[in-house]
Amino acid sequence: MARKFFVGGNWKCNGTTEEVKKIVTTLNEAEVPSEDVVEVVVSPPFVFLTFVKSLLRSDFHVAAQNCWVRKGGAFTGEISAEMLVNLSIPWVIIGHSERRALLNESNEFVGDKVAYALSQGLKVIACIGETLEERESGSTMAVVAAQTKAIAGKVTNWDNVVLAYEPVWVIGTGKVATPAQAQEVHCELRKWLHENVGGDIAASTRIIYGGSVNGANCKELAAQPDVDGFLVGGASLKPEFVDIIKAAT
Ligand code: PGA
Repeated sequence: MARKFFVGGNWKCNGTTEEVKKIVTTLNEAEVPSEDVVEVVVSPPFVFLTFVKSLLRSDFHVAAQNCWVRKGGAFTGEISAEMLVNLSIPWVIIGHSERRALLNESNEFVGDKVAYALSQGLKVIACIGETLEERESGSTMAVVAAQTKAIAGKVTNWDNVVLAYEPVWVIGTGKVATPAQAQEVHCELRKWLHENVGGDIAASTRIIYGGSVNGANCKELAAQPDVDGFLVGGASLKPEFVDIIKAAT
């Protein structure tokens, strides 16, 4: 089954109104393959979501960077899935390693969040990935399988899930996993999905790669058979994001 290439831009906790306008202008003026070929989703901080949505070309979409684990209510500082739906924000990133590490989000909590966001009609970019210590101790696959299992155990419909493999040791470090290292984990993850979730889902679910992806390294990564796109941090704030959108074409 053909998997449409997916390019996500995770702006993290960056940007002023002026900077946001500048990034959106660059994106709006870019000549890129059609939506049938590449799906493009940018993820500004919550406060800029509706602003970006109102300015952004209609063939690109927006994602929140997080949402609350269950129905909204007395949870100061949180944003609920229902609110995102109410504002017609179609996507949400869940389980980013920065939230797992800095805000102690566990595998279980991430699995619950993914399930709840899906139940409300959001599409989810679910993030997984090992630390350097875990890689060096040879437990990469055990770690990403456990992270995926916590999600898979609570998800029945995978149509609206994109799995983002982001090794923690390459995020924002300028280090990049080699295309072979990325392909190896993506291929193992697809096998894991095949064995534990189902053949059709393994074949159709997009597994995207993240961690120091840039205009220079994206083509070689995109050429790997099991790399179905990217989640881009730092470079998504720069004009080279347009080159990354075109990486697979
Ligand atoms: P990076 O971030 O591209 O800046 O390494 C990727 C991510 O955290 O999604």
